[in-house]
Parts: sequence; C-alpha cells; structure tokens
Amino acid sequence: MHVTGHCHCGAIRFEADVDPASARACHCTDCQILGGTAFTTNVVVNTGTFKLLSGAPATYIKTAESGNKRAHGFCPTCATRLYSASVNKEPTDYALRIGTLDQRADLPPKREIWCRSALPWTKDVDGAVRSGKQ
Ligand SMILES: [Zn+2]
Ligand SMILES: [Zn+2]
Repeated sequence: MHVTGHCHCGAIRFEADVDPASARACHCTDCQILGGTAFTTNVVVNTGTFKLLSGAPATYIKTAESGNKRAHGFCPTCATRLYSASVNKEPTDYALRIGTLDQRADLPPKREIWCRSALPWTKDVDGAVRSGKQ
C-alpha cells in the first residue's frame, strides 16, 4: 500500500510503500513513555521505498531491553514521532507511526506485541463517557 504522511506542523512530509499485514500495536513501556500514551501503532516499510519529501527529522537513538538500538525520527518543531529505523547513515528498516499517515484509518493492527506490559485499561475504555468532539 502506498502511503503519505506528515508531522503535525507540516514541516516534514514523506511517502513510502508499506505492508498492511505488518501493522501492529506495541505495548512496550518505551512506547508508552515516548508516546505519552497507552501504545504505539507501527507499520513496516517495504525496503527502499521510504522517501523524505520535505523537512529534516531529528533523531533519538533508543536502546531496547535487548541492547538493540533504533533511530527514532521526530519533528524538531512539533515533536511528532514519525518512525523508527536502523541506526546508520542511510537508515533502512523503517517502521512508520500509523497515526502520521493519511491512510491511518485503513491500517488496523494485525498483531499486538509486548502485551506483558500492556496497560490494564487498554481494552476497557467502554465505560468512558463518549462525545463526538470535546
Ligand atoms: Zn512538525
Ligand atoms: Zn514499543
């Protein structure tokens, strides 16, 4: 699937081809803290198809529990988290944050990972008062 995406302020724009079957929700504690939210949703980019169209992402190198390092790209102006990728000069293995994609409604997660640290209320917000806007 071809996708287009951008950060909240619009400075960074990109496109890529992704595999919808790879869409996943990650419940690891790093995602909870980095995102300031309950979980992150990612989709894997087909190798060599990520293309930065405008802007210059800042990078944070995150070291996982396994010792594995990933380069997290984000907008230095609006702080939108855009992707994680391999740590090298020409990053590969991009995983895009689904919320940044124009096609996000068409990319439901097919897997949930790191469920051992999932917040207990993640699947239980049905009791919350709902409204269409605020
Ligand atoms: Zn931005
Ligand atoms: Zn995670």
